[in-house]
Amino acid sequence: MRFTGHRLAASAEVRFSANATELAAAPMTLTKRAVEVVVPDGAQTGRPRVVDRTGRESIAPLLRLVPPDALLAPGSLALARASARPGTAFFDARRDVRLRYRFAAYGPLDAQVALVRRGKMVRGWVERDRAPFSAHSLTWNGLAESGAAGRKGRYRFRIGPAGRDARFAAPFRFYDHRFPVRSGHSYGDRFGVPRSGGRTHEGQDLWAGCGTRLEAARGGTVQFKGYSGSLYGHYLVIDGRQTERDYMYAHLIRRPPVRRGERVHTGEGIGAVGRSGNARGEGCQLHFELWPSGWHHGRPQDPLPELRRWDGWS
Ligand SMILES: [Zn+2]
Repeated sequence: MRFTGHRLAASAEVRFSANATELAAAPMTLTKRAVEVVVPDGAQTGRPRVVDRTGRESIAPLLRLVPPDALLAPGSLALARASARPGTAFFDARRDVRLRYRFAAYGPLDAQVALVRRGKMVRGWVERDRAPFSAHSLTWNGLAESGAAGRKGRYRFRIGPAGRDARFAAPFRFYDHRFPVRSGHSYGDRFGVPRSGGRTHEGQDLWAGCGTRLEAARGGTVQFKGYSGSLYGHYLVIDGRQTERDYMYAHLIRRPPVRRGERVHTGEGIGAVGRSGNARGEGCQLHFELWPSGWHHGRPQDPLPELRRWDGWS
């Protein structure tokens, strides 16, 4: 075992942890920058200390010692632990999905990690030269190999040595949107109902208590924010991440707490339900619009089927 550092020429011994005591090993070779010793029988996992002739010591990083019978045949890998967090994840949420794993093997190897949904690989990684018996992690940003947003569903990671059999582990659920009204609510006026002046209703109304927290159904960039006394009251438009769609939220209780151009993530607070604009004579409600080609480009779509979907899982 080789320890590297500075001013090591005066090293007298290296002490290893062993059953509540220590075992010392004398240097085999010694230079200013390195000490080599044979790890003594009985040494255990711990932080070895390099001690010099004056008794001064420096502590090495954690050394994990594995008994020979825990080693696997070269090239194979046994997953010891794997987990994915959060267990329920949303596309473009502030927190990416993080896989943590640990495995047994003979020595460092390339681990192949695949993210799988419905039996199909969504994304793959080769984790080069990963040490066995150590903690490893990787994060998934919610994008498929194609660059598109991951689709709703149950996902699992598949982890194995490169080119060999792998095991499924670390399941989690993933959703493409989050329902924006974060408390009790009911469905109000639908898309397309007639409005005064020959207009039609371009969104879906959702009744909720005044002040109910609103969250971005889909992360993105705040494209517009404004106030219209005769129509929407306080409103904002978010250009949805990895989509052509814009998401519009109206009748907010007050100016939304985000700036134009600001990046918001799925599930981030964007204000509260109110009755500003022409909802002032009615109850508090969110007026929500979905624009497939961007706000006021082309036509809006009926958001109800989507809202019901999102409502079903979040
Ligand atoms: Zn409305």
